[in-house]
Amino acid sequence: MTDPLPSAPHTIAEFVRGYEEESRLRGFRCRSCGLVTATWGLACSRCGARDLEEAALAGTGRVVAFTILSVPGDEFLNDAPYAYVVVELDGGGRVTGWMPSVRSDSELALGARVRFVPSYRPGVQFQPESPGPPPAAP
Ligand SMILES: [Zn+2]
Repeated sequence: MTDPLPSAPHTIAEFVRGYEEESRLRGFRCRSCGLVTATWGLACSRCGARDLEEAALAGTGRVVAFTILSVPGDEFLNDAPYAYVVVELDGGGRVTGWMPSVRSDSELALGARVRFVPSYRPGVQFQPESPGPPPAAP
């Protein structure tokens, strides 16, 4: 006989419900070491503690990685090209998302400040935190 799997305090479904239905990014904080993360799991990825509490993640952060997708999946066919981004949120947590306003790699830079935008569209959508002047012509 096997033991039943323990239930995760935070799940992918809850994360998706957070940004799709509640216009917020849900994550968790480790009560043992304080790590804040958007990654769902049974235990803290840093210290292994199972004492996790839900935490609201910041809606702002900076881009730590990105690429321009010109051949997207079906859900984004009418949006290509766009930027697929990894964002380090203020206060902790990294999430992947997309930026329909960015159409080439000259329009975004590592470290750029961005803001989560609640949307009816799939995925976690970001936009520049404060729209600046258009990029200079090459
Ligand atoms: Zn921890």
